[in-house]
Amino acid sequence: VPESEKYGFPLKLDEAWLCLDFANVIGWFLQEQSANKLTYLHLLGWAKQAQVIQEKTFEKLQHQAKQSPKKTKQAIQKVLALREITYQILSAHIWKKPPTAKNLSSLNLLLSETLQHAQVASDQEKFVWSWTDSDTHLESPLWPVVRSVAELLTSDDLRRIGQCSSDNCPWLFYDTSKNHSRRWCSMKMCGNVAKARRHYTRHKKST
Ligand SMILES: [Zn+2]
Repeated sequence: VPESEKYGFPLKLDEAWLCLDFANVIGWFLQEQSANKLTYLHLLGWAKQAQVIQEKTFEKLQHQAKQSPKKTKQAIQKVLALREITYQILSAHIWKKPPTAKNLSSLNLLLSETLQHAQVASDQEKFVWSWTDSDTHLESPLWPVVRSVAELLTSDDLRRIGQCSSDNCPWLFYDTSKNHSRRWCSMKMCGNVAKARRHYTRHKKST
């Protein structure tokens, strides 16, 4: 198994927005494990899986993390902060609440750090976003996520962001259904559990 796959996450839903994938997968990890079990390699594993970084960057960052434990710790703090901010701003919006001033200013601080590294690069016949110094900054896998959060918040897609109806599932999703009727993170996971529970309750009442 290549190093980059060893630290990947076992599940990945194909969400249209990178920031949703990030919030969901890291959130899932925190629910299953705990914040202090999250390592820098987990971030790299996720980033590789989400195709945010290439193998070459994975190796360079992994090497660098081993040499600077203090910076690595700071990068992990940023992962946790970004996940929290993204999750809180989006779920507040789903409940039609404004974001807290603290969350919004934290996001904007990350955004201004991120944009210092943003650039446009020529890629054959088109142009793409690219990032300067991504092989030397441990938090570089977060830059595309920060950009994705800012873009989602200012896009029309924001109206289509929903949250799983299951009580203890924080999963956020992009609802592509015609009349915005999606309720579950996935039918396989929470949808079926809810269906089984309804079935059980009905069955219990009738006996
Ligand atoms: Zn769910």
